[in-house]
Amino acid sequence: MECIFCKIIDGEIPEVKVLDEGLVVAFMDINPSSRGHMLVVPKNHAENIFEIPESDLATLIKAVKKCAGAAKDVLRAEGVTILQLNGKASDQIVPHLHIHVIPRWENDGLSVSTWEMKPGDMEEIQDIARKIREHI
Ligand code: 5GP
Ligand code: ZN
Repeated sequence: MECIFCKIIDGEIPEVKVLDEGLVVAFMDINPSSRGHMLVVPKNHAENIFEIPESDLATLIKAVKKCAGAAKDVLRAEGVTILQLNGKASDQIVPHLHIHVIPRWENDGLSVSTWEMKPGDMEEIQDIARKIREHI
């Protein structure tokens, strides 16, 4: 198994753990975007949102809530960015699903949650929404 997060879960690679509960572990990111940046990870290997069973996802998001709450209480975070990437095109590097929990403070200068705001073409927005609605 070449998956780096599976190796962490199996104890082959060390990590700094904050939570180990049933199907989920959370550990500190070794390249933190902010003070307290954590990764919440399902123990069962799933590459992305398309692969993970819904039941595992429900457990995962509960653990995310715990980690976010701890960041708020312990680190006095003023906000928490929760981020999850799927596929190279979305900048996913590690192909084992994980949710970033990134504590935030006013004017911390992080750009993980900002993008250029410019009004879209309403006809195109409506058309895309219709296609997605019909597919769902
Ligand atoms: P993503 O795949 O969402 O782009 O990001 C992967 C994240 O995993 C990065 O933030 C990176 O710092 C983190 N990461 C990569 N390898 C390791 C590792 O071996 N240990 C830990 N704790 N984090 C890692
Ligand atoms: Zn894995």
